[in-house]
Amino acid sequence: MEILGSIKTYDWGTRGSQSKVAQLASKNDENFAKEFNETTPYAELWMGDHVSGPSLIKSTGESISKLIASDNSSIGGATSLPFLFKVLSITKPLSIQVHPNKEQAEQLHATRPDLYKDPNHKPEITIALTDFLALCGFRTPAELYNQLKKYQALTNLIGADTIEELQKQPTSESIKVCYTKLMSSPQDAIVKCISDLSVIFNENKEDELLTNVFKHCNHYFPNDIGVLSIFFMNIIQMKPGQAIFLAANVPHAYLSGDCIECMACSDNVIRAGLTPKFKDVETLLEMLDFTGKTAEEKFFQSLPVGPYSELFKPPVKDFAVVQVKVPDTVQNYCIENRANGSIIIVLKGNASAAYLGRQLFELKEGSIVFVPACIKSVGLTFNHPDAEGFIAYQALYNDF
Ligand SMILES: [Zn+2]
Repeated sequence: MEILGSIKTYDWGTRGSQSKVAQLASKNDENFAKEFNETTPYAELWMGDHVSGPSLIKSTGESISKLIASDNSSIGGATSLPFLFKVLSITKPLSIQVHPNKEQAEQLHATRPDLYKDPNHKPEITIALTDFLALCGFRTPAELYNQLKKYQALTNLIGADTIEELQKQPTSESIKVCYTKLMSSPQDAIVKCISDLSVIFNENKEDELLTNVFKHCNHYFPNDIGVLSIFFMNIIQMKPGQAIFLAANVPHAYLSGDCIECMACSDNVIRAGLTPKFKDVETLLEMLDFTGKTAEEKFFQSLPVGPYSELFKPPVKDFAVVQVKVPDTVQNYCIENRANGSIIIVLKGNASAAYLGRQLFELKEGSIVFVPACIKSVGLTFNHPDAEGFIAYQALYNDF
């Protein structure tokens, strides 16, 4: 059945018609189109049964959670969907954050329920829909060494002897020592360091990516400690269709662009910068995964599961995502469903959807479909093939 997503407006979202969230919602939802405003930051489109924004059934306006409660065989017998599926449109960087693993989440929730709202973990997968920038995981010890040596302001802040350890002992422990030094630096030292670096990056032409990210972060969060995290963490430049997986305790931040995101249902976040919100530094340093990796190693590879379907299968049970990309030369294609149901969003193209030869509805850009477990597959016929073909993403329980 066709559903409507729940739209979230946050300060960091992309405004008006530039926002992919707004573009998709205005094509699928008449009410959204009526209330659309060019100055509103349309940040997130939620698809699922999360209590803070359950999707609505398009034909009846009823909440999908009500439907699942009345017939939980539609998702294979569970009480609610194990994942939340989203589209994000980002202009202003989101806070640098980590999410606890299941065991840590249970412990944090038990000891500090005011800060850690639920006992669940929050692994996430992010697939770029446009050119997308993110920070993800720590750089290798060798790369971090080069960064900290290259800029005198950083050498001064972290300390030349501390930095040398990265070369003598290129381990995650040495990364931890340097990062702990950063996170425990007084605010005036952070401000001085950022201001010295600003002078360099205002003239710097050699590393365009680092320069742009420095300016972007410092523009929206001037003198925030998170601006200096860009020297410690990998800057990931993603093209449409490329993905990263954010495992527990891996620090990350989305900086700009539009993406698909799928995650386990949870709100547990520990922040490390680019935020005016509370930073629980002690818990952060205890939990962080300080393993150093290159930016290339952070990309998450998909596996083919059909002629035009690629599966992103993370190492957690809660969710997987299938990317469907059918070229305009193809007339028919079939999207497989799984035993726990799935949610599909169309990003490009038009198709008639059918099940066992019975016509269901027309799909177009922005259409969102909840496919209950009893439907084995959705047959697509491309009547008016788009020049760019048909693109959709499907979120499902990871029972592959
Ligand atoms: Zn996150």
